[in-house]
Amino acid sequence: MASWAEVELPVLPTTVIGSYPRPKWLRDFINRFRAGRVSWKQLAEAFDDAVVAVVRDQEVAGVDIPSDGEMRRDEMVEYFAEGIGGFKFYGPVRVWGNNYFRKPAVVSRVEYREPIVVKEYLHLRGVARARVVKVTITGPYTIADWSYNEYYSSKEDLAFDLAKVVNSEIKKLEEAGALYVQVDEPALTTHPEEMEWAVEAVNRAVEGVNIKVGLHVCYSNYEVLRPYYDRLNVSQLALEFANRGFRGLRVLRGLNKELGFGVVNVHSRRVETPEEVARAIGKVMRYVRPECLYINPDCGLKLLPRGVAKEKLRVMVEGVKIVRGRLRRRGIEKVVLRRGTTCE
Ligand SMILES: [Zn+2]
Repeated sequence: MASWAEVELPVLPTTVIGSYPRPKWLRDFINRFRAGRVSWKQLAEAFDDAVVAVVRDQEVAGVDIPSDGEMRRDEMVEYFAEGIGGFKFYGPVRVWGNNYFRKPAVVSRVEYREPIVVKEYLHLRGVARARVVKVTITGPYTIADWSYNEYYSSKEDLAFDLAKVVNSEIKKLEEAGALYVQVDEPALTTHPEEMEWAVEAVNRAVEGVNIKVGLHVCYSNYEVLRPYYDRLNVSQLALEFANRGFRGLRVLRGLNKELGFGVVNVHSRRVETPEEVARAIGKVMRYVRPECLYINPDCGLKLLPRGVAKEKLRVMVEGVKIVRGRLRRRGIEKVVLRRGTTCE
């Protein structure tokens, strides 16, 4: 494994938030599995093959840090709840539009049983050409918030126990050689009165971890997040700005961490232009210096048609290249993969 200090990336490293549309053939294959017509082993092979296909999509688009597209995950909370001891499942509940998920219920103390995504990481590592890959994990607060709590006396107690579970998983990923993990917390700011302990839960989830940790927060009021920039022990905040028309960037004032800047809207099929992307990056550089910026879509791409997702990534990379050209003239070409919790 490469030593940490050697990991150099082009300035404005491009990455994804995590999810990517499943190829049509995989969706068909999953349906056949559900109908009992193919075995679990065959499905596992199909998942592995699908990861190769979607990693290639990202790499062809020019993305520096790909993910495995979360091919195996139907839903971000359900997937982890299935792997953690203490959960049981009820019938599907509607989340957004016509999307359903099986809402998990906590019925006993939650406990870490065995690695959940380490094999996924190793497969991704094996098939990606990129030097660095990203592994995503749903954070303790969001798992607690999106589950029925039928055991703990408070959501807070549940979240802190889940933080221990997530912490064990991140440490397993670190042992396996992962360099970059992203904790996904879309629910983080949804109950502002819980922010104090929610932030503490995130910090406990990453306690003692020595690799790069990003925190992705979306569908959120970032003014609620702002007072916690200092306290969050993560290297990076990955935030959405395209679907806000790049308004409200002032909330980044005082951010003393890297920013994963969302430049393409995942809720619109309209493909942005490289110039729009470049212009947005130009704007955000008034608040965050280029050495502290990563560029990504607003959120996971899974709800888009695959062709649109691929095209959005290509355009994102083209837009970044425009800005890189300007930065090169200022002598800024490379950044080092950073672990620390500050970037000022
Ligand atoms: Zn998101």
